[in-house]
Amino acid sequence: EKLQQVLNRLRPELCQLPSVDAQMQFVVERFQLSVNEKKARDLLVQLLQEVFVEFFPDSQILPFGSSVNTFGIHSCDLDLFLDLENTKMFQARAKTGMSDDGRSEDSILSDIDLATASPAEVLDLVAMILKRCVPGVHKVNVVSSARLPVVKFHYKELNLQGDITINNRLAVRNTRFLQLCSGVEERLRPLVYTIRYWAKQKQLAGNPSGSGPLLNNYALTLLVIFYLQNCEPAVLPTVDQLKDMACEEEECVVDGWDCTFPTQAIAVPPSKNPQNLCTLLSGFFSFYATFDFAGRVLSLREGCSHPITDFLNQNKGDAAEQEEPPNKVPLHRPRLGPLNVLDPFELCHNVAGNLNERSQRSFQKECQEAEKYCRSLQYQHKSTKGKSWGLLRLFTPQGDVSHSKAETLTIKIPFKSASLPENLRSQLHAAGDSFRLLWFRKVCAAVEGVLQNVLRCQITPFLAVSIGDEQAVKASEEMETTTSSLNTSLNDSYSSVEAQEETVAVVGIKRPLSTDDDDASMSPQDKRPRLSRRTKPNLPYWTCVQKHVVWVGRRKVRKELSRGADSRPEGSCMEVETQVTARIVEKEPELEEPLEFKVQPQMIGETESTKAVLNLEPTNDKTGVFQDFFHFLEAFLPKMVDTLLQKDTSEI
Ligand code: ATP
Ligand code: MG
Repeated sequence: EKLQQVLNRLRPELCQLPSVDAQMQFVVERFQLSVNEKKARDLLVQLLQEVFVEFFPDSQILPFGSSVNTFGIHSCDLDLFLDLENTKMFQARAKTGMSDDGRSEDSILSDIDLATASPAEVLDLVAMILKRCVPGVHKVNVVSSARLPVVKFHYKELNLQGDITINNRLAVRNTRFLQLCSGVEERLRPLVYTIRYWAKQKQLAGNPSGSGPLLNNYALTLLVIFYLQNCEPAVLPTVDQLKDMACEEEECVVDGWDCTFPTQAIAVPPSKNPQNLCTLLSGFFSFYATFDFAGRVLSLREGCSHPITDFLNQNKGDAAEQEEPPNKVPLHRPRLGPLNVLDPFELCHNVAGNLNERSQRSFQKECQEAEKYCRSLQYQHKSTKGKSWGLLRLFTPQGDVSHSKAETLTIKIPFKSASLPENLRSQLHAAGDSFRLLWFRKVCAAVEGVLQNVLRCQITPFLAVSIGDEQAVKASEEMETTTSSLNTSLNDSYSSVEAQEETVAVVGIKRPLSTDDDDASMSPQDKRPRLSRRTKPNLPYWTCVQKHVVWVGRRKVRKELSRGADSRPEGSCMEVETQVTARIVEKEPELEEPLEFKVQPQMIGETESTKAVLNLEPTNDKTGVFQDFFHFLEAFLPKMVDTLLQKDTSEI
């Protein structure tokens, strides 16, 4: 959700950049961890280190994962490896009385023998230390059922999720590998950030909380690297080639796996591939759009794929028949699935082993869609009319209107009585049960005001027939006269059946959203109680016409207008926003064809969870700008409404 909001804010800026390459660089700049965020994380690591050595002498805490692998984003978790190897040695020495440095075994440590303790036991200790000895740490949780048992914690000050593992030396090493790749090839980071974001938007990667097993960020990054190894000429070397570039001191074996590669990026010769980011990105989609995932296993080690049958036979066949050197042959068969990417180091591990058929299929399907889009002019050529182009279309979330089929999009404005001004709040409460309805009307009035006055939409109120809306029934029973034209129209529509029908009659040939006489679409049950349906009131809607690209470049105009003097955030001042619109209308050419859309407000939910829901549906969008306008409104409207509700109610 947060990422979506970030994107909405970035949309206008992305739109105005000159090229896809610039857009990709911009994505990195906006999403990457800032210097200060890194510093703050470093300080927390230091603090933890200081605490842990007190209890685990000679232990080391090492960050890995996205905080340090050069692909981190603002909200990413902090993955830590607590290395107890030296502590074990310390303990062994202490036990045999060989401890000669004068340190005595700490009481906690004397409770446990690291040589024989289970990971869960050690993690319990770690959790206890975190809870008792690190200020600011809370929500400490041991998850011993995970593939790698872990202690989870939250660090309040930085609003940071932390994970501590104790058996994860390989992850520390593969983090170094990713760092090296970024250092060797500067095109990698923009590609990875862009593809991660695309995958997130298409619900292909991210937290496996939602719809089934997804690619994790590590696996997705390896897919990008594998593709770059396979470009013509290669953009990145294979892991075997990297190994050959390392010197003797850099040799490294972790848990029996060869993890040798150069420490310094400078040891790796630069790529001869001159392609720009825009081309490489579309190449990524083409590459995987047709990839034979079912039949091949990807090996970053060798930079090529192997037939899956090689692996299926492996268990049956005699290992001695294998001619390759032992470090190239998985010792154990990896867990094979619909998408197989071997870890570059732990060669028996399929990093995408969690995926099912469905998630693999949607990955490939989205690659195909993206490939198709990348072949269109819209991908490479900046639109002069404020239309989505380049990355923006690629980033359209799954389920949104991505291929211009009209669909209703929704903006929700939650009821927050606490944030209302005192006078309005008491007014609302005085109104008893109907206070939410009153609030809803204020919201509707505010929305109408913003669309009409601030954003210069031409608005016409209409009625729509809604089937059985409880709130509307209530509304019709309870009348309130307010100043706004919307409130009047709301009241009209909620008031009585007669009034509705009159209004419908008044609107004449323009049909309401769903028509009462559309018998064909009605179920038999619906037909019968036709009369009772008629007693149910209508929900109004507005039709809106927008002729100007009022969502493009607002930030810049706002800055110009205030000449830097005004630091108020977007949506916090009606006058400023109105001026911004005026300036855009003045400067920018009109849309070739006005955008027409419907807005239907509805109130849903019980008491505290009440929301005003605005359903937006394009009715004429020849220039394809509805998406952009919607995404702008999604962020802008709730803020403006909030601002307006904070003001004296009489101003609404
Ligand atoms: P983010 O936390 O932003 O999603 P991340 O790279 O930190 O990205 P995590 O899931 O937190 O991803 O994993 C942390 C690290 O653990 C990875 O960077 C990688 O080094 C290692 N890792 C994660 N998943 C695997 C895996 N399936 N196989 C091998 N190593 C993995
Ligand atoms: Mg992480």
